[in-house]
Amino acid sequence: MDVTAILESLNDAQRQAVTAPMKPLLVIAGAGSGKTRVLTHRAAWLIDVDGVSPQSLLAVTFTNKAASEMRGRIEGLLQMPVNHLWIGTFHGLAHRLLRRHWAEAGLPQNFQIIDSDDQLRLIKRLLKGLGLDDSHWVPKEIQYFINAQKDEGLRPKHLDDEGDPNRRQFISLYQGYQEVCDRGGLVDFAELLLRTHELWRDNAELLSHYQRRFQHLLVDEFQDTNAIQYAWLRMLAGKDGIPFVVGDDDQSIYRWRGARVEHIHQFQKDFPGASVIKLEQNYRSTATILNAANAVIANNESRIGKNLWTEGAEGEPIKIYSAYNERDEADFVVARLRDWSDQGNPRADAAVLYRSNAQSRVLEEALINAGLPYRVYGGLRFFERAEIKDALAYLRLISNRDDDSSFERIVNRPTRGIGARSIEEIRSYARAELCSLWRAAGAVASGRFSGRRASSVAAFLNLIRKLAEQTSGLDLADKVDHVIHASGLVEFFKKEKGERGETRVENLEELVSAARSFKPDPAEDMSDLDAFLSHAALEAGEGQAEAWEDCVQLMTMHSAKGLEFPLVFMCGMEDGLFPHQRSLADPNGLEEERRLCYVGITRAKQYLYISYAEQRRLHGMDSFSQPSRFIAEVPSEFVQEIRPRVQVSRPMTTGSRSAGRKTGATHPGAELGIRLGQRVRHGKFGDGVILNCEGQGAHARVEVNFETAGTKWLVLNYANLDLM
Ligand code: ATP
Ligand code: MG
Repeated sequence: MDVTAILESLNDAQRQAVTAPMKPLLVIAGAGSGKTRVLTHRAAWLIDVDGVSPQSLLAVTFTNKAASEMRGRIEGLLQMPVNHLWIGTFHGLAHRLLRRHWAEAGLPQNFQIIDSDDQLRLIKRLLKGLGLDDSHWVPKEIQYFINAQKDEGLRPKHLDDEGDPNRRQFISLYQGYQEVCDRGGLVDFAELLLRTHELWRDNAELLSHYQRRFQHLLVDEFQDTNAIQYAWLRMLAGKDGIPFVVGDDDQSIYRWRGARVEHIHQFQKDFPGASVIKLEQNYRSTATILNAANAVIANNESRIGKNLWTEGAEGEPIKIYSAYNERDEADFVVARLRDWSDQGNPRADAAVLYRSNAQSRVLEEALINAGLPYRVYGGLRFFERAEIKDALAYLRLISNRDDDSSFERIVNRPTRGIGARSIEEIRSYARAELCSLWRAAGAVASGRFSGRRASSVAAFLNLIRKLAEQTSGLDLADKVDHVIHASGLVEFFKKEKGERGETRVENLEELVSAARSFKPDPAEDMSDLDAFLSHAALEAGEGQAEAWEDCVQLMTMHSAKGLEFPLVFMCGMEDGLFPHQRSLADPNGLEEERRLCYVGITRAKQYLYISYAEQRRLHGMDSFSQPSRFIAEVPSEFVQEIRPRVQVSRPMTTGSRSAGRKTGATHPGAELGIRLGQRVRHGKFGDGVILNCEGQGAHARVEVNFETAGTKWLVLNYANLDLM
C-alpha cells in the first residue's frame, strides 16, 4: 500500500503521532507546528491503513469553515469522498444527534434552534411577564448566567441559592426560561450540548450504540473545550474509545466562555494510558515572527512551556506604526493593503485583526473608500440581518406554530395593525394559560377582542395558515420565494427609502438562492425546511454567505484562531483595548489576553504589522492611550518603527511608555512639554485640548480642540500656548 501521500511532508514527531498505536493520544504543541495537519493525516491514516470505516470517526473542529476544510483535506489525501465521516463543531454534531433522537431527548420533532438574540428577547419577555425591572435584572447578565450553568452541565435543580436572594432569583429565572423553551420546542446553543449529554446519560443503549460506532474521536483546539464539551467527549469515549486530541495551552482564549485549559491535564488523568507527543518545529512563520511570539508568551507564568523553533528564514522585522488616531491607523493599513494587492498578491492572503468587533467600522470605511473588497469574518452575517431573520421567522412559524420568538418577531411585521397593547394581551393570556402565543392569539381573537383588533389578529393567523397550505407541496427554494412575497416582506422593504431598502430586498432574494443551493444531509431525518432553518441558525455563528471573491479578511483575534495568512495586521494595540480594560486588574485575565496576542502574532507567515493610535474614538468616546504593553514585550531586535508621514513621537514627559521601544524620533512640541491630550490655553481662543501634532521645526503645528472656538490648527512657534 502506498501511503506516501499521507506520510510525506511530516516530520518525525508528526509521523509518530499520525501512525500512533490505537490508544488515547494527546498532542500538545505550539502554534503552527502542524497540529491540525497531524489530525487530518491521522484520519486518513486510520481509514486507509488501519481499515477503519469513516463511519467510526468523529472529528471535532472549531468552526464550520475549519470542518469543511478538514473534510476536503482528508478526501484529498485519500483521493475519495468520505461522506459518512462525521465532522463538525461540537454544536453542529450535537444538533445532528438531537435531530435523530428528538423523541428520546424529550423534544418535539420540529424543534428550532434559537440564537443568542432570540434568547435575549425571550429573557426580556420573561422578565416583563414577571413584572421584574430589567434595569435591575439585567437581561444580558441573566443570559450569561443561564449559559454558564448549561456550559457546566447544570440544570436549575442542581443549583443552590447559597442563601443569596439574588442568586435565588437568577435560578428561578433560569427555570422559567427553560420552561418557555421546552414549551415552544426551542433549543439554545448551550442546550444542544447539554441535551445530548443527558440523552446519552439517560439512555444506556443509545450511548453504547454511539460508543461502539465512534471509536475514534479526533478533536482540534482541545485547549478551548468547556466543561460540558469535555464531559460529552468523555462519555462518548467510554472505556474503549480512542480519543486523539490536539491543542496548545498557550492558545486557550475562551476562558471567559467557560473553556478550561486544565482539560489538558485532566485528559492524562482520565485516560491513564494516554501518550503525549510534543511538536516543536514551526512551519508557518518567519524566525522573526516566531521569536517575537515566543518572547511575548514567555511573560505568562501559567503555561506548560514549549520550545518552538523554525528552520525558516529570518524574514522581515515586524513593523510598528504609531498612528495619530484610528482614521490614520486605518489609512495606513489600507495603503499597505493596496500596495500588497497592486503587487499581484491575492487579497485573501491578508488579514486585519482587531480585539473588539466595533473596531472594524473605521477599517471598513477606509477599505470602501479605497475600493478594496473585504469581508468581515464573523461580523454581522447574512443570516443575522434583520430582514433575513424576519423571513426565517415566517418559515419557522409555518413549521412550528408554537415558536414564540418567531411569533413575536413577525406578528406585526410588516405592520398590520396589531398594536403593542394587543400583543401584550396575547402574552398575558399565554402566560395565564401556559400556552404558546399562537394559541393565545387564536383564543383572544375569537373571544376577548372585537372589531378591528380581532380581525387584524385573525388575518395574521390566517396568513400563516395560508402560507403553510400554499407552500406545502413546493420545494425549499420555491417555498422561501413564495413566503418572502406572500408575507408582504418584499413589498414592505421596497417602501423603505434608498439603498437600505434595496439591499434588504436583495438580501431576501439572496435567501432564495441560499435555499436553492442548500444541500440537506441525506443522513438527517428531517424536512428540507427544518434542515435549512437549522443550518441558518448554526451558520449565523460564523462566516459570510456572499459568493467567494478575492478580498481582504477582517476579523477579531478570537476568530483568527487556527488560521494563517502571509500578511497580518494587528490593529488597535493599545492598553485598555488590547489588553482589554476588563483584564488589566486581573492577572489571569491579563494572561488570557497575552495568549490572544500570541494567537494574533502567530497567524502571520511572512509579514506582520502592529499598529496603535494615540487617540481613538470608539463607541462614540475619545480616549488617549498608551501603546499596548505587549508591544514592549517584543524584543526590539525584531521590530522596526515606521512613521511615513511626519515625525511625531510619544511625549518626553511619560517615560514608562517607551520601555522596550527605542525611538529616536522627537516630538515637535516635546521640548515645550506638549503632548496629545494636553490641556492648553490660547490668548484669543481660550481653553482646549491638543488633538494632533505634525511637522518639524518652524513648521511644527498642533491641532487644538477649543471649548468655544472649535478645532484649529496653529503653528507652534506663533501660538503662544499656555500649558495647563
Ligand atoms: P495552530 O496552533 O495555529 O492551530 P497548527 O499547529 O494546527 O497551528 P497547522 O495549521 O497544522 O499548525 O500547520 C501550520 C502550517 O505549517 C500549515 O501551513 C501546514 O501546512 C504547515 N506544515 C505543518 N507541518 C509541516 C511539515 N511537516 N512540512 C511542511 N509544512 C508543514
Ligand atoms: Mg490548528
